[in-house]
Amino acid sequence: MKFTEQHELIRKLARDFAEKELTNDVLDTMEETHVFPQEIRRKMAKAGFFGIKIPRELGGAGADNLSYVIVMEEIAKKSASASIYVSNPNSLSGGPLLLSGTEAQIGKYLKPIITGEKIMAFCMTEPGAGSDAGSMATTAVEDGDSYVLNGRKSFITMAPIADIAVIYAKTAPEKKSRGISAFIVELDSPGVSRGKPEEKMGLVGFPIGDIILENVRVPKENLLGELNRGFSNAMKTLEVGRMGVAAQSVGVAQAALDESIKYAKERKQFGKRIADFQAISFTLADMAAKVEAARGLVYETARLKDEGKSITKAASIAKYFASEMCNEVCAKALQIHGGYGYIKDYKIERFYRDCRVFTIYEGTSQVQQMIIAGQLLK
Ligand SMILES: Cc1cc2nc3c(=O)[nH]c(=O)nc-3n(C[C@H](O)[C@H](O)[C@H](O)COP(=O)(O)OP(=O)(O)OC[C@H]3O[C@@H](n4cnc5c(N)ncnc54)[C@H](O)[C@@H]3O)c2cc1C
Repeated sequence: MKFTEQHELIRKLARDFAEKELTNDVLDTMEETHVFPQEIRRKMAKAGFFGIKIPRELGGAGADNLSYVIVMEEIAKKSASASIYVSNPNSLSGGPLLLSGTEAQIGKYLKPIITGEKIMAFCMTEPGAGSDAGSMATTAVEDGDSYVLNGRKSFITMAPIADIAVIYAKTAPEKKSRGISAFIVELDSPGVSRGKPEEKMGLVGFPIGDIILENVRVPKENLLGELNRGFSNAMKTLEVGRMGVAAQSVGVAQAALDESIKYAKERKQFGKRIADFQAISFTLADMAAKVEAARGLVYETARLKDEGKSITKAASIAKYFASEMCNEVCAKALQIHGGYGYIKDYKIERFYRDCRVFTIYEGTSQVQQMIIAGQLLK
């Protein structure tokens, strides 16, 4: 992959930022309090990370998709939770607006999420509709100059703290996924309530939860894109989301590999460094090969996107391979650390928990297999 000087500069900017701001002290405190420091969020916004690949004329930094995945990888190397704050405005939240927003909607809703003033959520999943998102039960019924929304969205990233949400709802239930529309909903609207923040296994520092809609009136001007075309907006958004999760997986896996190399050189057993046992050095070689392979897939997906080509298959392949790879690499890294890998004082314990969800959110590995197979067999 060829990088320009600009890509190298962006990598350095993101790496320096992560090393300076996402220190062990900050991350340890976050593990204890489960709260992401607002000061760091503000600094991330100021550094331009929240609008890294959003065009300048829309208030972003105007960089390309390759720059975006580089930033995701570098931030995730230090903290996967912090990288969610980068992906959120660039992908799942900003994505639907970038794809279908009118000038007025972009001005009102995209700009404040790029500056970090506001947080937006992407609401697709429901208690009864996960992988089969098209079977969602949330409805939006036209009434005068509004739509009235009813339903419940679950597992929503940032739900407890978000100001705005893109909500997908059925406007023509008989048409199944072809009868879904997207709406921009201000979460202080009457009839909106939130469930309790879920207690997660990992990725502490950003909350998830339910958003409940009871007769919520949404003005017609907040219909996002065409009526009944919301599902395609969501699927296109998720493609970019998957590229981001793949980049996040590469960042975490690289960090786990780096920690394992350091540890294997330091730890002595049977009178030798454990790195001198072939079982360990070959495991490290295997991990490195897989991290590199995944990185190649991520960069290739970004390149295709930058060339304006379809990334449906590439993004699913990258997400599938990189997220499974990250889980495998983190498990091996933990094994190399022995009992210490199981202790919270070592970073591996956090990486192992954090990466578990990479094969689940934004489409499980099985859903990625379905998409890849669908593309191969069409
Ligand atoms: C931390 C976190 C953050 C999230 N953030 C968001 C968010 O911001 N917005 C949002 O809308 N959602 C979000 N989600 C939801 C997430 O996208 C879903 O959890 C995911 O899509 C899977 O849905 P499910 O949990 O209902 O699992 P299910 O769909 O019930 O799947 C259960 C199992 O069955 C398998 N399965 C299902 N169908 C098939 C099939 N046809 N063939 C083979 N296997 C199948 C799945 O792969 C999985 O292993 C988040 C989830 C988590 C954990």
